[in-house]
Amino acid sequence: MNMNNVYTTQSAEETRVLGGELTGEIIPGTLLCLFGDLGAGKTTFTQGFLEGIGAERPFVSPTFVIMKQYDLLKPVSGIERIYHVDAYRVETKDFETIGFSEWCEDKKGIVILEWPERVADLLPAKRTEIHFKSVSENEREIKVTSF
Ligand code: ADP
Ligand code: MG
Repeated sequence: MNMNNVYTTQSAEETRVLGGELTGEIIPGTLLCLFGDLGAGKTTFTQGFLEGIGAERPFVSPTFVIMKQYDLLKPVSGIERIYHVDAYRVETKDFETIGFSEWCEDKKGIVILEWPERVADLLPAKRTEIHFKSVSENEREIKVTSF
């Protein structure tokens, strides 16, 4: 997977595989912002990523806990932790309070953020954006851009 490219997937499985392939390119300290409507594939992609990087199951949705942290038993190219974050139900000021910037400053961590538009004011300039779009029932366009 290239960090500046557009991909098309034809099934949830293909999106999961693509998420797994990202683990070969990503560097520690990266903030990954996942944009896209409900059902566009953000969580499917994230689960492929978590699986690919060897995070411990269960992979739970952070919708109700806001942040789920995975400490890797075996670090992968300097990455020791993944913070999977969902900003859907969060106010910007609360997001600061619970430690969003500290997770982003973790030099051995990766932050995966769903619904980044909810906390747009807090996003550091240096980030990777992935935009998910439903093209048809089973087709998704997935565009990766690194800033
Ligand atoms: P989000 O987290 O963006 O709301 P999810 O990953 O939870 O989206 O859900 C995506 C839904 O779309 C799942 O039900 C999945 O099976 C389905 N789906 C169908 N085709 C694809 C595809 N190409 N990529 C990802 N998901 C797909
Ligand atoms: Mg989701």
